[in-house]
Amino acid sequence: MDDGSCSIASGTSLASNFDVIVLGAGISGLVSASILAEQGHQRLLVVDEYDHVGGNHIDCTCGDYTFDVGSFIFQDDSPLLRHFPELLPLYIPIKPVFGRLNPQGVVTRYPFSVPDDLLAAGPIELSRILLSVSFARVFQREQKDARSFARYWIGARLLKRSGLEHYLERFYGVPAEQIDINFARKRMLWIKEHASVSTYIRRLMKRSATGPTNTQLVRPREGFARLYGAAKQRLEENGVTFLLAAKLERLERLEQGLQLQVGGQRFVAERVVSTIPIPRVQDLCAEQSREDLKTVRLFSLFFSFSGERGFGQSVLFNFSQAGAWKRLIMHSDFYGSTNGREYFSVEVNASQAGESVDLAGQDFRRHVAANNLFKGDLRLEGSHSLATAYPIYTEQAGERAANAIRSLRAFGVESFGRQGGFDYQPTARVSTQQAEAALGFS
Ligand SMILES: Cc1cc2nc3c(=O)[nH]c(=O)nc-3n(C[C@H](O)[C@H](O)[C@H](O)COP(=O)(O)OP(=O)(O)OC[C@H]3O[C@@H](n4cnc5c(N)ncnc54)[C@H](O)[C@@H]3O)c2cc1C
Repeated sequence: MDDGSCSIASGTSLASNFDVIVLGAGISGLVSASILAEQGHQRLLVVDEYDHVGGNHIDCTCGDYTFDVGSFIFQDDSPLLRHFPELLPLYIPIKPVFGRLNPQGVVTRYPFSVPDDLLAAGPIELSRILLSVSFARVFQREQKDARSFARYWIGARLLKRSGLEHYLERFYGVPAEQIDINFARKRMLWIKEHASVSTYIRRLMKRSATGPTNTQLVRPREGFARLYGAAKQRLEENGVTFLLAAKLERLERLEQGLQLQVGGQRFVAERVVSTIPIPRVQDLCAEQSREDLKTVRLFSLFFSFSGERGFGQSVLFNFSQAGAWKRLIMHSDFYGSTNGREYFSVEVNASQAGESVDLAGQDFRRHVAANNLFKGDLRLEGSHSLATAYPIYTEQAGERAANAIRSLRAFGVESFGRQGGFDYQPTARVSTQQAEAALGFS
């Protein structure tokens, strides 16, 4: 992990002046600093409460193993690399195969498999599935939440048989009917794409004409610090100052600009760009009332293993009826075994495991044993809990977040990003594009 170097003397009572202060050194904060520097701002300060750059791209080293707090896969055509080209040679290229444990206990293709989800159902169930899709498309036109959205596209029967219904609940931590439709329309388009015949034909034609267009990548073996350290170094060479492991205390409006108080130091800037959680920045501004925006707490369980794992895919999603775990990634497929053992990270939505890492671990062991997976010596090497893994869009959270962002803007803070925009940005690519759009970069 990064040690959080900062060139500013501490304990001074004089405010240091900057053109822009960026709160958060995740992808959104790093890209913002890169854009602002390119736009001619010479005095830039990036502040983060974390002790490292890269935000929630977090790894944990346990003994000889380095795990991640999720499954992080990147691409070589990401716009992030336009800002930080030095990252590209640091990544490890991979050819990941994605799988899914389905409700029938079969490890199959992700996200759908025609042989396993449709043909293996038998002629009677297959007819029912087709009838239910036709019925949904004709009679269930009203889509009011994530569940009715998914039902419209694949029908109630396939939703259940494929296990997507169970997966959605595991993902959000609340029943899919409590997830706002605007979120489903914006962020569950993959269901529509996989259910649309014309999209399938288009994709098949494109694939046969051009072949795969990008390379999949993972972080260097030793962790994210090596990767994002290179981005930090580039920014520092362009005059950006970093203040990491910072204790954010207060953000005040001055007659001109804003003043940030951090661990006894004061920094004044004409602009403040925030990519940290909205409630956190509201806490810093005395004039702002705090909006209660729910996020998923994600447990990551770190296992090493020796034996018969029972599947060949590197990323496995849990679409079965039972088991709290959501997804796992086999790091050893990419970096090689360590001490003769495979190792992997398992993601669990904490609300699905009684908010207890112990329960999550026990549940995982029970569930994989019941499905004949990981037969052998399975050891829990460690775990991690991340409070703000992704936003939950219930009770008009999208609208409430938009109001909070408007109010922060009126105060003088430009808030965007996965945390700052309360926006489920699924990839670093999307976060980069959103930061570019927010700062008028083309
Ligand atoms: C589990 C997981 C898996 C992902 N998988 C992929 C993937 O495979 N490929 C891909 O491209 N993208 C993936 N993403 C998404 C991608 O990483 C994000 O879109 C992007 O990193 C968001 O960056 P950000 O700077 O906006 O926000 P973040 O990195 O989420 O956070 C920005 C800043 O907010 C502050 N902050 C955040 N959480 C807290 C907290 N709990 N307490 C205090 N401060 C906090 C910190 O200052 C942090 O630096 C994944 C994200 C997660 C969480």
